[in-house]
Amino acid sequence: TEKIIIIGGVAGGSTAAARLRRLNEESNIIIFEKGEYISFANCGLPYYIGGTITDRDKLLVQNVKDMSLRYNLDIRIFSEVIKIDRQAKKVFVKNVQSGEIYEETYDKIILSPGARPVVPPIPGIDKAKTLFTLRNMEDTDRIKSFINKHLPRKAVVIGGGFIGLEMAENLHDQGIKVTVVEMSEQVMAPLDKEMAAIIHNHLQEKGIELILGDGVKSIENNGQSILTQKGNKMETDLILLSIGVRPENELALQAGLRTGKRGGIQVNQKLQTNDPSIFAIGDAIEVNDFTNKQPTMIPLAWPANRQGRLVADIINGKDVQYNGTLGTSIAKVFDYTVASTGNNEKILNRLGKPYEVIHIHPVSHAGYYPGAVPIALKLIFDKTSGTIYGAQAVGKDSVDKRIDVIATAIKGGLTVKDLPDLELAYAPPYSSAKDPVNMAGYVASNIMEGEVDTIQWHEIDRILADGGTLIDVRRPEEWENGHITGATSIPLDELRDRLDDLPKEETIYVNCQVGLRGYIAARILAENGFKVKNLDGGWKTYETAL
Ligand code: FAD
Repeated sequence: TEKIIIIGGVAGGSTAAARLRRLNEESNIIIFEKGEYISFANCGLPYYIGGTITDRDKLLVQNVKDMSLRYNLDIRIFSEVIKIDRQAKKVFVKNVQSGEIYEETYDKIILSPGARPVVPPIPGIDKAKTLFTLRNMEDTDRIKSFINKHLPRKAVVIGGGFIGLEMAENLHDQGIKVTVVEMSEQVMAPLDKEMAAIIHNHLQEKGIELILGDGVKSIENNGQSILTQKGNKMETDLILLSIGVRPENELALQAGLRTGKRGGIQVNQKLQTNDPSIFAIGDAIEVNDFTNKQPTMIPLAWPANRQGRLVADIINGKDVQYNGTLGTSIAKVFDYTVASTGNNEKILNRLGKPYEVIHIHPVSHAGYYPGAVPIALKLIFDKTSGTIYGAQAVGKDSVDKRIDVIATAIKGGLTVKDLPDLELAYAPPYSSAKDPVNMAGYVASNIMEGEVDTIQWHEIDRILADGGTLIDVRRPEEWENGHITGATSIPLDELRDRLDDLPKEETIYVNCQVGLRGYIAARILAENGFKVKNLDGGWKTYETAL
């Protein structure tokens, strides 16, 4: 019988173990987990701290006794694998409670050791007793008991990513005044800046203090205060450090397994390292970006679970492979949902890849049915082939399904021209007869077919400064409520009567509230022989972004 050792018993490791057993009753499967728990719900931890999840036991998806019995596994917790000897095909295991070290032989290894929070050497960090990171049950218990015991009034969250913002909300739910400090100019890196801006406004609305474009310089007074690089000083009772994770690659490095630029363990499409008997999955590995095919690190639960199942299939001789990670992700930020899939503009710019962008602002379901709320939806694609590079959405309702549909379209190889043809479920409480995803497809197709040309929110100010003409086609009361400085107001329904006022020789720019009336205006002007471009996303995208 084959002896398979799994290192790390949570998301990827547990999934692999269960599937291995379902495919083969004979193999000898051992899971080594250095912590106390296997298969716990990492993703639920912030919500237990915040009190939305009240029952701690519900976070423990599987326990050692039940899982061992159900799947006939040898599960050893408090057991850290400290070395792999590839020549002798054995591992050295340390019982972290007793300190005892012993050896275990193997035929195959599955590495699923995950990634740990990055803790940079900020001056004073080692003395900060009130500083926490969040990865596992132990961290959660520590944070929860600190809050219960010390009743902190103020907290600083360092890092505005998923975990940082989820924790900001959950600490706020505990009545704590929260400040988020983020080094880049925006929170939520998977979004582009103008989409993140919606979240910036919302966080501030909820009473979260947001410090962007500033990093922590030092932690002082045993963690009681923080000094930023730009000289902000704040007092705090609790610090949550969440600036990202780094792969647990020490074992792999020691064993001479290849790792990538950012330390991720390198595997082929069969999830095999450069040693054919050692496989690796989850947060610890480097994956290929599904969209641009470049190596990257995407530490999320879907890839870990998918790879966990696939690696078991592969070990059992099935002809399957891992096709790369799209990076589809979602998070709740107070009343908003933030979701994205594929590549954003920042990534495409870094790769020097040309692309086209559209922003639309449809409502979540039929406008006449109560409760409809706007969704800001952004689609990034190739203008020639229609290949969908990525999408981002922010809104208070039904953001998840729009991104999920687009993620499915990308994996299915559909182009923006296929999106209008997706026949999606519709009744007024759920959607519109033209779903936002269909609408995004229509708008993108119009651009591909040359029916309309657009400019982006970040381009218009420069155009106006250079003497360009921008016509705002909204109604007078909308114009009164705010407009782009330098624009001229001509409401859409008057446009046909005022064509003589407009210059024929230069490109005319038009804008409306969200881009739709601008498109109609652009068509009228184009049909009358004008050169015209519509401001993509309209006043709404422009105003939010600035
Ligand atoms: P893990 O689940 O981290 O498991 C690795 C295990 O290996 C650890 O328990 C570790 O103790 C053990 N280990 C490491 N080295 C050794 C060793 N040498 N010997 C023995 N054991 C070892 N993802 C999402 O997609 N959506 C979310 O909403 C989301 N929310 C999250 C919230 C939080 C607070 C956190 C921390 C993560 C969240 N994630 C989320 C990420 C998701 O949890 C991870 O992508 C996923 O758990 C990765 O699985 P993994 O098996 O690679 O690693």
